Amino acid sequence: MKALVKTAAGMGNLEVMDLPEPGPDPDQLKVEVKVGAICGTDLHIHDDEYVNCPPMVLGHEMSGVVVEVGDEVTRFKIGDRVTSESFKYTCGRCRFCQDGLIGLCSDRRSMGVHVDGAFAKYVCQREESLHRLPDNVDFEAGSMCEPTAVAVRAVYERATISSGDVVLVSGPGPVGLLCLQAAKSREATVVLVGTRGDEHRLALGKDLGADVVINTQTDSLDSILDMTDRMGADVAIECGGSRASLEQCITFTRKAAQLVTVGLPGREIAVDLDQAITKELTILPSFTYRHGTWKRALKLLEEGTIRTAPLVSRRFPLTQWKAAFDAVRSRQGIKCLLLPVD
Ligand SMILES: [Zn+2]
Ligand SMILES: [Zn+2]
Repeated sequence: MKALVKTAAGMGNLEVMDLPEPGPDPDQLKVEVKVGAICGTDLHIHDDEYVNCPPMVLGHEMSGVVVEVGDEVTRFKIGDRVTSESFKYTCGRCRFCQDGLIGLCSDRRSMGVHVDGAFAKYVCQREESLHRLPDNVDFEAGSMCEPTAVAVRAVYERATISSGDVVLVSGPGPVGLLCLQAAKSREATVVLVGTRGDEHRLALGKDLGADVVINTQTDSLDSILDMTDRMGADVAIECGGSRASLEQCITFTRKAAQLVTVGLPGREIAVDLDQAITKELTILPSFTYRHGTWKRALKLLEEGTIRTAPLVSRRFPLTQWKAAFDAVRSRQGIKCLLLPVD
């Protein structure tokens, strides 16, 4: 089968290769991939700015159809439409696994990061990491369940948002646009903030329910103060992963606000921690999800409360991965999808 492989450590080293089809272990299912979605993490792995264990197939956002079922599998059958968590292995025994915090398991191995991922015709995945797609959630939306679960973790499980809260979402990339929709479903007033080059993402944010959008290149963030009796937002969700984005989240939240950090900078960045301390901000880093996060994410997709179709900019056959990565990098598109090839 054709697969997009990180062949060696270092910058680049991505190649479409012919690999033997994988066969499922007894606790696994073999899934024919229908759609893979490119994530910022994939670009970081291309650039060697995020953990990776080559040689391995890249890709951790996907949907597909079950084509083979391991002997120990009980909940799925051939033909089921599925999406997958990125975790291919967690130990199940450490204190974090026992608490359901599978993303914090030290032995965690993720698709397309530590072990073979989904940018291929087939992928094998353990039963506990797979979720059945609701009938009205198509394969494209299914491929975006993973970032949706990331947003749901940040907005529903890390932040505590009350109806009427002003929520600042900084960074209108895919996860930011998903966090915006999740925050709207909590009846918050949402301010979406972007910068130069984000014009069409901010316009889309407006369509997806943002109450106010701010482009820091042309507009002042002071309107956040105007909306909040000069105090600042109740909650900030940082999705940009940049120093400027984090800094504006610290500055434009009120005292005793919550700051949820989702964006990974991929390098060390300096921030004004004094301001965060003297405001007694509650800083809540948010990383991946629990199994249960997916139930809520799938429900929000099924209800249409979170919409992913408007985020899809372009579709590419797997062989054109380079053009797809370039499109994501240049921020021409929002979400680019990779379709497996024979
Ligand atoms: Zn991702
Ligand atoms: Zn563990």
